[in-house]
Amino acid sequence: MAGYWSKEETFGRERLERLQLKKLKKQIKYLHSNSPFYRRKIKQAGIKPGDIKKLDDIRKLPFTTKDEIREAQTVNPPFGDILAVPMGECTRAFTSSGTTGKFVWHPFTEKDWSMWVNLAARQYYTIGVRKGDIFAHFFNFNYIKTGHVVSEGVSKIGALVVNAGTGGTLRHIETLQDLKITAMASTPTYALYMAQKAIERGFNPSEFPVEKGLFGGEPGTEIPEFRQKLEETWGMKAYDGWGITDIGIPIAVECEMQQGAHIFEDSVIVEVVDEEGNPVGDGEKGEIVYTDITNEAMPLIRFRSRDLGIFTTEKCECGRTFGRFLGGIIGRMDDMVKIRGVQVYPSQIIGIISKFNELTGDFRIVIERDVMDRLVIKAEIKKGFNPADIEEKLKEEIKNFVGVKSHIELLPEGSLKKYEWKTPLIEDRRRMIEF
Ligand SMILES: [Zn+2]
Repeated sequence: MAGYWSKEETFGRERLERLQLKKLKKQIKYLHSNSPFYRRKIKQAGIKPGDIKKLDDIRKLPFTTKDEIREAQTVNPPFGDILAVPMGECTRAFTSSGTTGKFVWHPFTEKDWSMWVNLAARQYYTIGVRKGDIFAHFFNFNYIKTGHVVSEGVSKIGALVVNAGTGGTLRHIETLQDLKITAMASTPTYALYMAQKAIERGFNPSEFPVEKGLFGGEPGTEIPEFRQKLEETWGMKAYDGWGITDIGIPIAVECEMQQGAHIFEDSVIVEVVDEEGNPVGDGEKGEIVYTDITNEAMPLIRFRSRDLGIFTTEKCECGRTFGRFLGGIIGRMDDMVKIRGVQVYPSQIIGIISKFNELTGDFRIVIERDVMDRLVIKAEIKKGFNPADIEEKLKEEIKNFVGVKSHIELLPEGSLKKYEWKTPLIEDRRRMIEF
């Protein structure tokens, strides 16, 4: 998989940081002049664009939260006074795919869009997609950018693209075979679901010619046990990668080393902060904060993503100097549930469930409140296996790795509702009682 999509990927750290600083200064001046929202925020922070003299000065800038954007768009619909170009300059608009609150709009100019497409091309080039590959993606096209940007990005490499989209799993299986698809992309759970459906029809997905895939949109690929299952089932290399709709850029992808996704630091500056917003050290866990130094329609400064990660600029064997998130996005602050004081993340449960070959991999986390909070794991068991053989083992794994006692409900294969986009893994019934 030799070769890089663009020269910036191997810039020395110093050169890269010089480029970041130059783009950051320009972006802050630009927003101060063109976005009333940011002019106000910068003023409230008591600083001027000229105060940004070195990269660390980014900390002088205020954070941006999703609630603020939502509020700005409610007061000044549709895009809010955060918009930094006249609306007539925008050529595309998408919404973020969040599951809570009113959708937030993300408009883009033509220049923004072509930059995204280029970064999507970089993502797929990095995982080895080349001209001659036949690529299919199974991402949604409704309001969400993923399907569109992936489609155009992979075409830019010169590969043949099939926009399979979501829905119609059996047709997808036929397409994989008939077109001899060599590369694919979807959410990780949908890839496993498709494989399961193929097996039920008498196929062996590992015999399909798919060699590599990029999986994102929900936790999965970054969890070793899950990745192993995905790679074995499909007989392919599975890579983690992501984009943040709020930022608008496909911003991270794993290289052939599969040692954490490289962040496209020539387009975005990342910081990792603790709950109070103070920076944590290299290699320490915290919330990922993104500053968009490239977009012009609605760039966000110090956007608090609520995603948790461990960032490092430690050298990677692939030769890229872009920093990496070790283990990908390791959780979402909003997805974390506390049970009797212990933090539980869906990614921990995915890792444990993936170890059991007797289970289909589909599960839900249910939190019930009786006298005390109770963690219930509902998981599907494959046909021909006895729940009694697995229950205790699963309980023990959860106790050991998560640190909480659980109640296990093993359900027949196919019992849990299937989603093709962002499976809601947590059902917190305590909230229903509290509100
Ligand atoms: Zn690398």
